[in-house]
Amino acid sequence: MSYTQDVIAKVQRLYPDQVEFHQAVKEVLESIEPALQKDKRYEKFKVLERIVIPERQINFRVTWEDDRGEIQVNRGYRIEFSSLLGPYKGGLRFHPSVTEGIIKFLGFEQIFKNSLTGLAMGGGKGGSDFDPKGKSDREVMRFCQAFMNELYRHIGAHTDVPAGDIGVGGREIGYLFGQYKKLTNRYDGVLTGKSLLWGGSLVRTEATGYGSVYFAQEMLKHSDFGSLEGKTCLVSGSGNVAIYTIEKLQQLGAKPVTISDSKGMIYDEAGIDLALLKEIKEVRRESLESYAKERPNAKYTSAKDYPSDHNPLWSIPAFAAFPSATQNEINAKDADNLLKNGCKCVSEGANMPSTIEAVHKFLNAKICYGPGKAANAGGVATSGLEMSQNASMTSWSFEEVDKKLHNIMQNIYANASETAKEFGDPTNLVLGANIAGFRKVANAMIEQGLC
Ligand code: GLU
Repeated sequence: MSYTQDVIAKVQRLYPDQVEFHQAVKEVLESIEPALQKDKRYEKFKVLERIVIPERQINFRVTWEDDRGEIQVNRGYRIEFSSLLGPYKGGLRFHPSVTEGIIKFLGFEQIFKNSLTGLAMGGGKGGSDFDPKGKSDREVMRFCQAFMNELYRHIGAHTDVPAGDIGVGGREIGYLFGQYKKLTNRYDGVLTGKSLLWGGSLVRTEATGYGSVYFAQEMLKHSDFGSLEGKTCLVSGSGNVAIYTIEKLQQLGAKPVTISDSKGMIYDEAGIDLALLKEIKEVRRESLESYAKERPNAKYTSAKDYPSDHNPLWSIPAFAAFPSATQNEINAKDADNLLKNGCKCVSEGANMPSTIEAVHKFLNAKICYGPGKAANAGGVATSGLEMSQNASMTSWSFEEVDKKLHNIMQNIYANASETAKEFGDPTNLVLGANIAGFRKVANAMIEQGLC
């Protein structure tokens, strides 16, 4: 068995239930094999065995009281995966599907993503199986306070800097920050994604979505497929990433026609009404059924009516797809449907939205395929910019931050694509991004000795 397969098998043996973590490890390790062949130090220094085990992992209980006065108990996690390149950095996800395996897959991805940004950030991730849906504002606040009652002792502006992810946006970051300050008596840049009133950065809210479109533009510029202008695009999800992907696509003259949430999907052939979407999701916090009610020509399909083997959103003909919902939302059949209908570009706003089989289909078809680690790195990169502004007690204008974000996305593309060329597979940005992200972390590991 090869070194790589040996480590993959070990991960599967050690953590038998953590299937998403197995998937993330397998995807990275198999694609970096050529780099391991080229530089035998990685095997000698047992880099793979070390990189798949988090430096530290905190599992805790979160006890809080709901509006009826009933006691609620949730599980909380913070996985501090790697501090080789900087403080642990990565979001918090609040969603009922959260398990240790989910947080580990996200933390593992984050190491390489953060490395690709070129900024000084290690990798971490956290979250809870708490479901913010249907909870009152006061319940969300009490949960966030209870979550921070344990988390505060593990984080710090130079130690571990959490941010948002699914279910954690500006409101939650506000409650978490308030409680951190109360417990520590410190005003630190300990979280990113903060409000603009108290230490947040302009463009942080837009960054993941804008970045994923900038990445798509970069891929297309270096292909023969043409630009996004005038093209129909598919977007999944309806959270922060989806909303700002749609905003940037519309600014570039493209036509996004779909959105989705856990209850169903919208196909709005005339193009998504962004103001209505923002009102429903950011202000009223309602499901997309409300969107369909207010736009009678938009077609709503309930998730209950989805076929069992594929997601109907990906069978709508379009030039480009921006999966911006969650992991494994594109399977092999979905990938076939996209390709059959002429899709030429997939830029992943979500983390690991395509199964390994779907990824191979995109790579074989030689379309522009931007894996999440590269395409959605704009969010965490702008968190890095927020940390810089906090540390130097300044704030930059919207244009300045947007320009830096755009530059970072261009650099990530250039780095991934040059690395892909170096290894003889020029269109394979999975190999390029994974090797480029990995080499920096692995070399830092060797340089920092046994730690
Ligand atoms: N949750 C985002 C991600 O997956 C952002 C993390 C951050 O800003 O720290 O990269």
